[in-house]
Amino acid sequence: IAFIGVAQRLGWIQVETVAAKKTSASADGKGEALYICPMMCTPPQKEPGRCPVCAMELVKSNQDSRGPSTEITIKPAARRLANIATAPAKAAPVTRRVRVVGRLQYDEGSLKTIAAYVDGRLEKLSIDYTGAVVEKGDRLGVLYSPRLYSAQVEFLLAKRAVDRLDPAARSSTRQANVNLFENARQRLIELGMTPSQITQLEQSGRADSRLALLAPMSGTVIRKLAVEGQYVKEGQSIYQLADLSSLWLMLELFPEDAAALRYGLRVDAEVQSFPGKRFSGRVVFVDPCVESKTRTVSVRVVLPNERGLLRVGDYARATIEVPLSPDGGPVEHCYDPELAGKWIGPKHPHIVQDQPGRCRICGAALVAAADFGFTGEPAAQPEAVLIPRSAVLHVGDHAVAYVETQPGVFQLRRLTVGPITAQGVVVLDGIRAGEEVAVQGAFLIDSQMQLAGNPSLLDPEKAGDAPSEDVPAPDIPLPGGMEMEVAEEAAPAVPIPSDMELVPANEAPESSQRVGRLPEEGTR
Ligand SMILES: [Zn+2]
Ligand SMILES: [Zn+2]
Repeated sequence: IAFIGVAQRLGWIQVETVAAKKTSASADGKGEALYICPMMCTPPQKEPGRCPVCAMELVKSNQDSRGPSTEITIKPAARRLANIATAPAKAAPVTRRVRVVGRLQYDEGSLKTIAAYVDGRLEKLSIDYTGAVVEKGDRLGVLYSPRLYSAQVEFLLAKRAVDRLDPAARSSTRQANVNLFENARQRLIELGMTPSQITQLEQSGRADSRLALLAPMSGTVIRKLAVEGQYVKEGQSIYQLADLSSLWLMLELFPEDAAALRYGLRVDAEVQSFPGKRFSGRVVFVDPCVESKTRTVSVRVVLPNERGLLRVGDYARATIEVPLSPDGGPVEHCYDPELAGKWIGPKHPHIVQDQPGRCRICGAALVAAADFGFTGEPAAQPEAVLIPRSAVLHVGDHAVAYVETQPGVFQLRRLTVGPITAQGVVVLDGIRAGEEVAVQGAFLIDSQMQLAGNPSLLDPEKAGDAPSEDVPAPDIPLPGGMEMEVAEEAAPAVPIPSDMELVPANEAPESSQRVGRLPEEGTR
């Protein structure tokens, strides 16, 4: 850069301003040469020499009396030396890439506690470690309960009474016996016997004080809360089971990142256990409130875990591509090839089917993905003009960029910029799709514009907002005197004054990237 600066000063980089369309008054050709201080301490001088303020050698200005232009020509050699590169402005749907770290949790909808239905002693616990995988109906242990025994005896007596009932008996007597039997049966169910265990009891006709504890669902034992031989009270928990075929990823997002999230939006996650491997899930729930202490919004994502690779408690780095409208708001329709024309579960967005039907987890009727805003047409998402971030020069509230309108000719454009995304900066006004913008060396072009006295980053008011071939450059006579206002108007080429905050576009914030606050277990 220092070399380029020297080269500039020595005149190796030759630039020439392109004459803007002018009135005939100044069409007579070049005016006198002017000499300017590289530090812009003084107004342009008519004679070469040294700056009276900083004593640096004055350099010949490229500006002539034809007035400022919004364009500048940079010769191929200078262009190579300054490493100027361009890229086309693209038209594409806008997405905001949100990156956030969260933690994997049990799918709380899948948690089940196995508790003692009746006071008794745990005579045997078949699953004696956590993490064991059980199938529905597996025997988890045996409970010895004298109370259960007496209830079974009552049931068998009631059954015998019904069986031996005289067919000639009065219907009221009959009904009373049947009621007694039904009550005794209901009592056994309340004491934890399954219908099949009761049928077995009916067939054997023998009461048993020992009750097998059966797994109510397939899953993994995540907690063992009692030990063999222990006396348990009614309602006391013995095991906790969880279905790990899907897990929850809990995220804490900044409100602006969570604003345009929607149910079913795809989330990619990389877990600590498998660096580089991508797991994908979908947004289930976005908290309607902003947490007051952390100023974040809780977001719940469901991650299918059929192969059992994901572990509860693991950290996951999530990436969400949030579709946005060009002005940064939410889109009405977004396109996800996996959901186009499909049906998804209204509570379980990872249940996706080609046809309407029922959710295999909760049994709810599946809903067309289109009802959640997932269109089958990629083109339905609005497009915006995007340019690389390095193309945008920011100072204060201004944003400008240089467009190569013809080979070697760069035109200053004032921009109205929208959101800054991973794909680049959204340009709401100032550049059209397909135009070539300078993505490297734009600052050098800008300093040449300043040296030439043209509108530039620091003074873009005169710059065209659109291709300005049709806009005549303002006819401003070049002041030649020593008036103070001239000194104020002259913008320095190098360096940028320290009181102006210069924000390189590539340092503008993109999205939240932080470890989210982790919710307490069991609070949601
Ligand atoms: Zn000076
Ligand atoms: Zn469901």
